[in-house]
Amino acid sequence: MNYIVLDLEWNQCPSGKENSVDKLNFEIIEIGAYKLDSRLNVVDKFNELVKPQVYTEIHSIIGGIVKYTIDELNEKGDYFEFVIKRFLDWCGEDYIFCTWGCQDLTELQKNIRFYNLKYKFDYPLCYLDLQKLFSIKYEDGKLRRSLEFAVEYLKISKTIPFHQAIDDVYYTTEILRRMRLGELEKYYSIDLYRKPASKKEEIHIVYDTYYKYISRAFSSKEKAMLDREVKASRCYLCERENATKNMTKIANWFSDGSKTYYFLGECEKHGFIKGKIRMKKTDDDRVYAVKTLKATDMDGASQVLEKQLAIREKRRKKRLGIGE
Ligand SMILES: [Zn+2]
Repeated sequence: MNYIVLDLEWNQCPSGKENSVDKLNFEIIEIGAYKLDSRLNVVDKFNELVKPQVYTEIHSIIGGIVKYTIDELNEKGDYFEFVIKRFLDWCGEDYIFCTWGCQDLTELQKNIRFYNLKYKFDYPLCYLDLQKLFSIKYEDGKLRRSLEFAVEYLKISKTIPFHQAIDDVYYTTEILRRMRLGELEKYYSIDLYRKPASKKEEIHIVYDTYYKYISRAFSSKEKAMLDREVKASRCYLCERENATKNMTKIANWFSDGSKTYYFLGECEKHGFIKGKIRMKKTDDDRVYAVKTLKATDMDGASQVLEKQLAIREKRRKKRLGIGE
């Protein structure tokens, strides 16, 4: 299997988001990629500019990042329809995408949809988010650092500038090599451009240290929370051992009043398990749930209970009209 290290540059509406063309907030202007073999040797490179068809001026923020002018893009670039075809042909059959952050594959697919092109990616689309893997390996797993931060952290010499897709791909590849994937590859990500369309397509992944579930879409978060699978509290560690065991609920799913729900349970065998559901919006304004369950200790358990208390207290004060 090959690794395709991918980086995109995109432009956005020069006169602000409110004037954006529907369904294309970001127009891709460059695709850069390295193809690596299983030993992480570079076997080929891909770099093409895209002729802008939607936003024909560079947004000022983007202009401060990328170095292209519209004239250059028009002169050296080709239409997206042709560039994407060459790119996907170049990728071949057996590969996994590697990106810095979680945005590139989604934007790539949005651009493909915008032009009504029929390219099918695997479902679910698994990829390696090196920004996440960097955090898991060197930091707390939650922080998300810039590419330049990681380059400095790993003492990679900064011989070329940043923010040209192919140059960022060079740095991302250097980071990938220094991190040595191995165990880290188990922490692959799922691109959420295409959401589960049915119960059957819902996603369940048991990682070493946590479990992740992505639901189909519901008309509201309240509806989602009525769904058995969304609110299910089976111990994922028991499931990994092929046993089904419901946890004792210590704090059943409670809301922070916004988009997040929390849970605390206890498994006889595996101890405290904390849960979190984040409700996310689909393009057509429905919601789907992203649930994680994670084994925790006494400290972690108390934190969930403290959160519950704080939320209750806040509600009580609000009910009584006491300001904070
Ligand atoms: Zn268990």
